[in-house]
Amino acid sequence: MSELRDFVADLLERRGAAVEVIDPDGLEVLAPAPLQKTMGWPELARLGFGAQRSEGAFAIRLEGDWLDRFGALLAEEGHWSERELKPAAAVPPPSDPERVLERALDLPNAVWRFKAMTPTFTRCLLLSFRYTAVSDEKREGLIQIGFNIGTGAVVTEILARLRPVLAQVSDWQVPTPTVKLAAGPGWSAATTTARVRPLLDTQVRESMEPFLRAMRRRLERDRNRVHACHDDLRNSSLKRLAALERAEGDRAEADRRRETLRVEAIEREYRAKLDDLRHNYALRVTVEWVQALDLYVPVQRFEVLIRRRKGERIIRLDWHPLVRAAEPPLCEAGLGRERTRLVCDDKLHLTEPAGQAPCRSCTKPFCRACFPAACPRCGNRNDLDAPLE
Ligand SMILES: [Zn+2]
Ligand SMILES: [Zn+2]
Repeated sequence: MSELRDFVADLLERRGAAVEVIDPDGLEVLAPAPLQKTMGWPELARLGFGAQRSEGAFAIRLEGDWLDRFGALLAEEGHWSERELKPAAAVPPPSDPERVLERALDLPNAVWRFKAMTPTFTRCLLLSFRYTAVSDEKREGLIQIGFNIGTGAVVTEILARLRPVLAQVSDWQVPTPTVKLAAGPGWSAATTTARVRPLLDTQVRESMEPFLRAMRRRLERDRNRVHACHDDLRNSSLKRLAALERAEGDRAEADRRRETLRVEAIEREYRAKLDDLRHNYALRVTVEWVQALDLYVPVQRFEVLIRRRKGERIIRLDWHPLVRAAEPPLCEAGLGRERTRLVCDDKLHLTEPAGQAPCRSCTKPFCRACFPAACPRCGNRNDLDAPLE
């Protein structure tokens, strides 16, 4: 239980309490008034974390409403955190920078030249989102997205590989001012939103795909069952009607009317059942932001000259010593999860191949980074990513 005890002690101290460890399973807390109110404690409270409840102590467990109250104390603060991470032992820079770039860069329509490699710090933003999809069943999932703010690259994979390293380092080191200065400023809310939205949409969709497939299968099965059952009833009524077609007299007329009404009733019920199914399987998806971590890490920053026709441009690309890997190059249009980039003629933007594709309407190729809204020739919107259905 000592992890929970330490967490609680740390949190309470940050909220102005004086905390003393009285035994391995107990804390004594002198709480300021606002904290007393939130937690429902007297000024001096004893907290017990052990299996045995000690006299006069509040028993803190991982279950129960205590965690909710601690969560309330964390409030917004728990959503945002920053941390600096250093390798345990110095990692030498890559001995052959050109080889690193050969693996990192795939530029079919441009050439590149290595210019420089400098050790520095960068700031990586790791965002976590939770989605909940509800139809006849419920599915929840966690989506993580990572950016290197210093280069603009999507580094979700690099950060995924960093996570075990993070878990091993128990010391939470707050970034020093020098490191923060070297890493540079963060993004504006508008930039962050613009970068996050398409990636988040795509990743939520991909993550939900097995759930949606299973849901469609169940819907299909139910629809077939409802159809088969009503079809049988309707067919036997229609057969009876056909048999009555030539019959004459009042009795036959009454039978015909009854069967006709029956067929109408069956059709009505079939439509109602389909409506029920549609309602039952309607999909509602909510996505909420859970957490953001600003991670300050050392990098070897590559400067690379990109050349296309008569144009030239320098881009940055980081090699991450903590995972000994280069990140994918920045991508100025499209998701940029693969490494291949096409370079545009005018501004030498790096985009994913679809970012330079022919216009869907007039077939003239154009750069989606130069013209994000629509094709410059015909004005057709050429969205790279379809919105969430
Ligand atoms: Zn461009
Ligand atoms: Zn066009």
